[in-house]
Amino acid sequence: MRIAIAGAGIGGLALALSLDAAGFRDVTLYERTPQLRGLGVGLNLLPHAMRELTELGLADRVAALGVAPATLAYFNRFGQPIWSEPRGREAGYAWPQLSVHRGRLQLMLRDAVIERLGDAIRLDHRLVAVTDRADGATARFATGGGEVEAEADVLIGADGIHSALRALRYPDDGDPAWSGLTLWRGTAVVPPFLDGRTMIMAGDGDQKFVAYPLEAPRPDGLQRLNFIAERRGEGSADADWNRTVDPAPIAELFRDWRFDWLDVPAAIAAAEEILEYPMVDRDALPRWSFGRTTLLGDAAHAMYPNGSNGGSQAILDARTLAFQLATAASIDEALAVYDDIRRPATAKLLEMTRQTGPEKVMLLARERAPRGFADVHDVIPATELEQIAADYKLAAGFHPDALGQRSSLTVPA
Ligand SMILES: Cc1cc2nc3c(=O)[nH]c(=O)nc-3n(C[C@H](O)[C@H](O)[C@H](O)COP(=O)(O)OP(=O)(O)OC[C@H]3O[C@@H](n4cnc5c(N)ncnc54)[C@H](O)[C@@H]3O)c2cc1C
Repeated sequence: MRIAIAGAGIGGLALALSLDAAGFRDVTLYERTPQLRGLGVGLNLLPHAMRELTELGLADRVAALGVAPATLAYFNRFGQPIWSEPRGREAGYAWPQLSVHRGRLQLMLRDAVIERLGDAIRLDHRLVAVTDRADGATARFATGGGEVEAEADVLIGADGIHSALRALRYPDDGDPAWSGLTLWRGTAVVPPFLDGRTMIMAGDGDQKFVAYPLEAPRPDGLQRLNFIAERRGEGSADADWNRTVDPAPIAELFRDWRFDWLDVPAAIAAAEEILEYPMVDRDALPRWSFGRTTLLGDAAHAMYPNGSNGGSQAILDARTLAFQLATAASIDEALAVYDDIRRPATAKLLEMTRQTGPEKVMLLARERAPRGFADVHDVIPATELEQIAADYKLAAGFHPDALGQRSSLTVPA
């Protein structure tokens, strides 16, 4: 079976590795950029995605890239604690959660593709058109040397939030929808905060700061921190992952956020580079699979980053699609079953991220105690906090019980 993948991001590379593990040998990745430069800042891999990377034999290589946060903690904009929960192995999962640099993860996956599949990546190939056939698809790519075509039995659009395949299937889809919030993403080397293994979120629906360590503390005692500073009403709706801005005005927006456990404006000011990105997503689709083509990752279900799902859900898509292609009675059935399994699951999650997902606790705290509180349980009962956290994990497919019981997506040899 000839399989063509448009896009060598996290989802496309994970799909190539999953297809290889499922026994497919004729897999080619077509990537728009002339060079994979490992761009981006931090990204979280939740235990359900780590399960898949572990079953692909990549656990140690991913673990070497980052830090496994042991705790996730929510605070209000005064730095007062709202909710905290153990994460990863500390929460009883058989697999860790990992905070990694998105670019380092992408380059590691690329290296694994080259080791396992050989010369399978065609750079400088931008998908521009698709011709459907009863038994496959012809993909047309724009390259530096003109347009080229590739025949495939199956074509997968793993080409990100501005997916060309999605636009071909849904010409009226338009630009991603902006929530009105702008994210400023960066990394900075700063003194460790809390226990050095905690991911924090502070603030509410109008202004927020998310931070987690990306590396173990260095010999000089400092640690690389990843952060996302967020505010309503600033910036633009243009979803360009690579737009850089000056840190100083962003630090100024957070000037009062000097907590006794973290100096937020100092961390922002220390960033080498700040990337501005609007909080955008796309509506859920009625269908991903058309003929011998389908969508995967952000191309299929771009969603807000709250809940840390972008990379993890793309990896789940990849493993599910490879499993179906290897085990279903036909290619058509595989694409239909993949669509039936993954589309409703990600649509539900998309809906939850629009309602701010597990971060709802921060909104409730602001609503009920805008000037802060002495004890959070005076304003939000413990049972309500517990329910919000549990509901989200169930919907995202990483509730410890559900994840432990789910059958493996590894194709039996
Ligand atoms: C440059 C960049 C930086 C990012 N930084 C972060 C970050 O810091 N933190 C975070 O959480 N998420 C980041 N993301 C998004 C994150 O990678 C995704 O949300 C998630 O991993 C899902 O992966 P994906 O493979 O679906 O999409 P992506 O990882 O976005 O990959 C899509 C790939 O398709 C390629 N492509 C696009 N159009 C075409 C086309 N027409 N033909 C062929 N190839 C095409 C793109 O160049 C890209 O390599 C970034 C994405 C990009 C592209």
